[in-house]
Amino acid sequence: MKNIAVIGSGTMGNGIAHTFAQFGYQVALIDISQPALDKALATIAKNLDRIVAKGAITEAEKTQTLKNITSYTVMADGVKNADLVVEAATENVEIKLNIFRDLDKLCPPNTILASNTSSISITKIGAVTKRADKVIGMHFMNPVPVMKLVEVIRGYSTSDAVTNLIMETSKKLNKVPTEVRDFPGFVANKILMPMINEAIITLHEGTAGVEEIDTVMKLGMAHPMGPLQLADFIGLDVCLSILRVLQDGYGNPKYAPCPLLVNMVTAGHLGVKSGQGFYSWGHGTKDLIVADSFKKKEMA
Ligand code: NAD
Repeated sequence: MKNIAVIGSGTMGNGIAHTFAQFGYQVALIDISQPALDKALATIAKNLDRIVAKGAITEAEKTQTLKNITSYTVMADGVKNADLVVEAATENVEIKLNIFRDLDKLCPPNTILASNTSSISITKIGAVTKRADKVIGMHFMNPVPVMKLVEVIRGYSTSDAVTNLIMETSKKLNKVPTEVRDFPGFVANKILMPMINEAIITLHEGTAGVEEIDTVMKLGMAHPMGPLQLADFIGLDVCLSILRVLQDGYGNPKYAPCPLLVNMVTAGHLGVKSGQGFYSWGHGTKDLIVADSFKKKEMA
């Protein structure tokens, strides 16, 4: 493993490219959008500055990390020498299936094709290629340079050799890989999303307000942030779509998304990315200000 291609340079793609590059891999960062690539490279440089300021890497290591990344808007150019591709494009089944059909044609036969998907079946993605044994989930957490976990998801046909190689590669990035099987939500989101949904149901039923629910979970369960704040960070649209995957995949009504979540997404209140969710984020992400719709006087 030497040459890595990362498809998609958004929130996750820039973090994945950063992490591989910092550990000495040659990274081709690919996006259909040149502005997205420009933004990703600026974000990586800014995040590296922060790590230099903390004394964790030197200025020279920062420069070398940036040199290890080349950006491309044409996928064929970026993947032709890849040993491993990590796809981190938009969470949409059709987009991902098309990318993997193309990757299967464009990459050398031994290239391993990984997806950072939060919820789409790795088995389904593998099935559109002629190398399902080399298709695997490599689910990094946000922010990638900081978070230790990589959920390594074996599709139905993923080989032992490929799984072991991805486990070892994750360790080389100073991560802790955890092997799981390919069922809806894998492990992380199968457990996290029902908890977030239950927090929204609790709010919807009027049992407690936004701050009270998050305080109970932060101080009572030692969670670093409450479930409603976390939902705002993940994106309420993303939470809704993962709950739908769980609901469809298991056919169990316990995963049905709370109607309040559905309404908020329909109204465009998506959390941090839209400026409004359970909290108000127009001023930045430092202070927690409950969104107007959930202020106590209006709930009474
Ligand atoms: P994002 O919207 O920030 O970025 C997606 C990028 O993909 C965009 O820059 C877009 O231009 C690009 N893109 C779309 N189609 C493309 C194509 N055909 N070829 C190349 N690039 C293309 O999304 P994100 O939050 O970074 O999520 C990416 C993936 O990571 C998703 O599968 C998501 O489920 C998963 N994920 C997200 C998080 C999170 O916290 N955001 C955490 C874990 C996993």
